[in-house]
Amino acid sequence: MVADPLLLVGAALLGLCFGSFLNVCILRLAKEDKKQRSLFHPPSTCPSCGQRIEWRDNIPLVSWLLLRGRCRRCGHPISLQYPVIEAVVGVLWIAAIVAYGPTVRFLAAALFGTVLLGIAVTDARHYLIPDEYNWAGLIIGLGASLTSGVPGFTQAVLGAVVGFALLYAVGLVGRWVFKEEAMGGGDIKMMAMVGAFVGWKGVLLTVFAASVFGSLVYVPLLLRGRKRHVPFGVFLAMGAAVAFVFGPTIYDLYGRFLGAG
Ligand SMILES: [Zn+2]
Repeated sequence: MVADPLLLVGAALLGLCFGSFLNVCILRLAKEDKKQRSLFHPPSTCPSCGQRIEWRDNIPLVSWLLLRGRCRRCGHPISLQYPVIEAVVGVLWIAAIVAYGPTVRFLAAALFGTVLLGIAVTDARHYLIPDEYNWAGLIIGLGASLTSGVPGFTQAVLGAVVGFALLYAVGLVGRWVFKEEAMGGGDIKMMAMVGAFVGWKGVLLTVFAASVFGSLVYVPLLLRGRKRHVPFGVFLAMGAAVAFVFGPTIYDLYGRFLGAG
């Protein structure tokens, strides 16, 4: 446990900044016009009046509250999504520093959680998982495994390979059984990225947990005759978070269970 208030404040501020950046990612990576608008250029503008958003109106959480959720120039409402994402990512970074202290594992946990949130929101809204999240996550995951030994570089590479292969296989079987696209390319690449953070056991746990979460939500809908496209990335993101945080405990319990039997 971390009690150092400086670390907590530092983590919170970093989290707010990453949350603010994640808002830009969520907005720009999912749009059809993403070829025209990169993540860093041009600067953000009001979607209604086109006014460029000044730095003082772009401070995470604070600006939205001071402006009471409206554009300074035209009064157009600013989506509640912005402060909510910033606050969630801020809390995530605080939780990570409390859980792991000032370590590489903290940084890996916080960035992994941020990427997963971006994927979940984008998949839920647009049924797509932009490659940028997967590539950024894969590089961060492999990089972190080189320095901290969690899960270890070999484990991270193995996890990425197993994640990719497993979802690819599920996709093949799904296409053969249901005669339709069961697993998008985004899900496959996402699980390679997740594997780099949680290792191959984590990949299995992620897919298992995601299936449970997904069934809890979708089986009742299907029973009522509502066939829907499933944004499976949302559930994979939830499963991956479970595998990252609770994985080691779960494998340990499972091992002891097998040992006792
Ligand atoms: Zn405006």
